[in-house]
Amino acid sequence: MYEWLVAAAKGVTIMERRAIRSALLSDLARAAEQAASLGRQFDDMVEATELTNTDDEHDPEGATIAFERAQAYSMLEQAVRDRTALQDALARIDEDSDFGLCQRCASQIGLERLLALPATLLCVECAR
Ligand SMILES: [Zn+2]
Repeated sequence: MYEWLVAAAKGVTIMERRAIRSALLSDLARAAEQAASLGRQFDDMVEATELTNTDDEHDPEGATIAFERAQAYSMLEQAVRDRTALQDALARIDEDSDFGLCQRCASQIGLERLLALPATLLCVECAR
């Protein structure tokens, strides 16, 4: 317990940690929902393409579908990345005494930045 208090004093305070934790949880809920909904959209798209069996190379319609599908896929990937980053941050906030410290320069990441971007690993200077 004592060790934990000392560790907590090094990074963010317990109150700050609590605020960041709740920001993380609400961002994570949003990211998980977005990833799930984009996943469903992508699945529907793939299914629709399979049903119509359009020729991607020769049918101009097919090219549009392929483009839309690639776009949907990259949005899905981004959503999954966001969700993973938030899950990682949530695991770190309880276990890592360096939480809130920049991974590049080891200086304290500002509380405002942590509340706005709770999964960030870099301070505002290093993120530039
Ligand atoms: Zn930094």
